[in-house]
Amino acid sequence: MIDLRSDTVTRPTAAMRQAMAAAEVGDDVLGDDPTVAKLEQATAEILGKEAAVYMPSGTMTNQVAVRAHTEPGDEILLDANAHVYYYEAGAPAALSGVMCRLLAGVRGIFTGRDVRDALRPRNLHFPRTKLVCIENTHNRGGGSVWTLEQIADVHAVARDAGLKLHLDGARIWNAAVALGVREQEIARWFDSVSVCFSKGLGAPVGSVLAGTSEFIERARRFRKQFGGGMRQAGIIAAGALYALEHHRERLRTDHENARWFAEQIAGIPGIQLDPTTVQTNIIVFDVTSMPAEAFGRALQEAGVLVLARGASEVRAVTHLDVTRKQIEQAVEIIRKILQQRSVMNAAPDA
Ligand SMILES: *Cc1c(COP(=O)(O)O)cnc(C)c1O
Repeated sequence: MIDLRSDTVTRPTAAMRQAMAAAEVGDDVLGDDPTVAKLEQATAEILGKEAAVYMPSGTMTNQVAVRAHTEPGDEILLDANAHVYYYEAGAPAALSGVMCRLLAGVRGIFTGRDVRDALRPRNLHFPRTKLVCIENTHNRGGGSVWTLEQIADVHAVARDAGLKLHLDGARIWNAAVALGVREQEIARWFDSVSVCFSKGLGAPVGSVLAGTSEFIERARRFRKQFGGGMRQAGIIAAGALYALEHHRERLRTDHENARWFAEQIAGIPGIQLDPTTVQTNIIVFDVTSMPAEAFGRALQEAGVLVLARGASEVRAVTHLDVTRKQIEQAVEIIRKILQQRSVMNAAPDA
């Protein structure tokens, strides 16, 4: 199977498994796991932050950040398609008791003006707005990249209004490669940053939340409260550490593969896609000659997995477990399926 559903499907490499097997461990709830400590330190350094804390998932790092920045009844501002709002099972309401005010970004990217328009006067009637969340790269936006200028624009408004800024940087690694900057040049605009090791970096488990020492101390308490305190977590942290050291640079290859795939399928009748929208490793396109679900099933029978979402939308993602050759095969399979389809549609008795 050529699995293009997500960059979460990667399996640890042999070298990564070796690093995991050899990891020094201890009880991390007691602060005794040297590998977890090393991962937290290394990530904080890469992001240019004082401190960091390791957790089992990106959902948890995001939601602990929301909790640590707010009190129940507060309001947070974020794009209507933000992972924090869209894909985290209602957690802002369930775990932090906050309201989400949704901004209408373009492919997940909103502006300082959008934030300014959402600001509320100080008045007894309103919730208190505390936090703005940005997602870079933006998952539902099709792996779109916030530029440093776009971030600075939102940052200026947030700072003037006394709002905190959180980055859902599950794919900050892809953003850094796409922008040609170091991760800390992105992270420096934010009070807190959450990053994932189990997406494009290919580690089996885990995310880190980074920020000031004081903020991370507060976050550690909420991690415990949310059930995210782990014991000999060095086993999995070693995989993340290995990924951090060895798999960041190669994301460039995933981006090249994604762009090539997009350019190829954009020319196939029955597919609607502007390949210039493909900035990183995510390709979102529309199938116009058959329902997306049927397209997904036909692809699966031919050995390619993608995600059909909605009536016509399909998502494909490149990652370290798919080679250029497999991407080429996937293109040919898509071409064949849609050619067959157009013959069927053209038949007089169809
Ligand atoms: C995957 C992802 C997360 C975290 O998801 P988990 O499955 O909880 O690890 C957070 N934000 C974005 C943008 C993501 O794509």
